[in-house]
Amino acid sequence: MTVLNKLYDIVGENHVFEEQEGGKYGADWTHSYVFKPLAVVRPADTLEVSEVVKLANEEKIAIVPMGGNTGLAGGTHAQGALVISLERLNAIREIRKSSQIAVVEAGVVLDSLHTAVDDHDLIFPMTFGARGSAMLGGMLSTNAGGSSVLRYGNTRDLCLGLEVVLPSGDIMNLMSELHKDNSGYDLRHLMIGAEGTLGIITAAVLKLQPKPNAYATATVATRSLDEALLLLNSLQMATGGAVQAFEYMPDTYLEKYFKIFPTARQLFSRNYQHNIMVELGTTVKELCEMSPDGKIQLVHRLESILEQEFEVGRILEAVVAQNLAQRNEMWERREAAAEVTVSQKPLVNNDVALPLDKVSEFFQTVGDQLEALDPGIEPVCVAHLGDGNIHYAVWPKSQNPALHDKIVETVEEIVLSLGGSFSAEHGIGITKLPSMERRKNPVAMVVMRQIKAALDPNNLMNPGKVIPK
Ligand SMILES: Cc1cc2nc3c(=O)[nH]c(=O)nc-3n(C[C@H](O)[C@H](O)[C@H](O)COP(=O)(O)OP(=O)(O)OC[C@H]3O[C@@H](n4cnc5c(N)ncnc54)[C@H](O)[C@@H]3O)c2cc1C
Repeated sequence: MTVLNKLYDIVGENHVFEEQEGGKYGADWTHSYVFKPLAVVRPADTLEVSEVVKLANEEKIAIVPMGGNTGLAGGTHAQGALVISLERLNAIREIRKSSQIAVVEAGVVLDSLHTAVDDHDLIFPMTFGARGSAMLGGMLSTNAGGSSVLRYGNTRDLCLGLEVVLPSGDIMNLMSELHKDNSGYDLRHLMIGAEGTLGIITAAVLKLQPKPNAYATATVATRSLDEALLLLNSLQMATGGAVQAFEYMPDTYLEKYFKIFPTARQLFSRNYQHNIMVELGTTVKELCEMSPDGKIQLVHRLESILEQEFEVGRILEAVVAQNLAQRNEMWERREAAAEVTVSQKPLVNNDVALPLDKVSEFFQTVGDQLEALDPGIEPVCVAHLGDGNIHYAVWPKSQNPALHDKIVETVEEIVLSLGGSFSAEHGIGITKLPSMERRKNPVAMVVMRQIKAALDPNNLMNPGKVIPK
């Protein structure tokens, strides 16, 4: 009996198929990685995932778990491997308003969870541009971030419990709803961010939050990045921590954005170097009320804070969204970043994290050093500035791969000298293996290899990702 026949027996003939190189399951989102999987299998539930993993172990076949396939680090590359797509595990098993939790399967698309919890006046606060495709299992496996991390934390912070199929095929049930549980090693946190190298996440218990009843959104030009940090702190002080997005778009990004979207509206009277989209959200009743001039009180609050900031010279110009259409327009400008970034090749992507008060120094240093390396190099950069996460992508002039590596090394060098990390929210996958090799603490690397060998002795679970050879 061939492996395919054995897979038919587990999941049914309709859910096992071959895939072309470059097809839906044969390339990553950026198409930087194009591959031909051995086959694609789409189990219906945790038991079927477990049976498929046991079979792969018997047959010594490499496995690559796949969610929405929107990852940006090549983590779903599956040349000759069995792709296990989690897309049929798409049930939202429970939403419990009283304890503000959702129990979801790994294949639930982020947008579907947003819609489902909205009916209960709750939010799952994680959000980013790929929310229409990214799945909860993939987000947990990459510990995704996004634009609301400064208020609600990353995916790790929003997860109470997990169910995982281990490389042996055993099902590890950690589906706890507890906020406190110190019963030994926290294996949930070992699995979150492991990018499918230690097991397959099949279900999770997630934390929800009360739905803000009012938002106030603005785009602001600040004098400098240091002034932007002071603005963030003022906003947090004046609103009791209601800032839920603080997103940076330098002039170099907006230039490219307007080339791709020429009909988009210019917000300011002139171009500024430092542009920030800020959003406040609140559940406080008084701030959600409408004032006599038809504006929500929170919008008034934001306007008055920005006026004060203007008077002290911290901000140069500001536009506050006056309706939902204007709010959406501001978000579209920011969320087009992935599309703008991949619109030109070659592309060198750097997803780095910095201490908040070092971001300005990073920008002052990095541009000159890269220009010296590759004259004419163009940054196409945006940032989740509120949590120190910079997407410092560049379009090099040179086609030389060795120079592209040098660009990454140079960015890393600056980041590490400022106490930052070479990987903020996109993970390691394949793209960042050289950085892991160079930069990760060697003792930590030994421990990671020991954990991998203990859980996956045959090295079949997403091999060649996260841990350098
Ligand atoms: C337009 C766009 C905007 C983005 N913006 C952001 C952003 O702001 N912040 C951010 O953090 N990320 C962002 N991303 C990337 C982000 O990592 C992914 O969108 C998301 O987290 C991955 O989910 P996915 O279901 O697509 O996972 P996939 O791409 O399918 O998989 C990602 C990794 O997880 C593994 N995996 C998938 N499912 C499972 C599972 N159930 N169990 C174990 N392993 C699994 C895969 O093997 C792979 O290694 C963006 C991507 C795009 C395309």
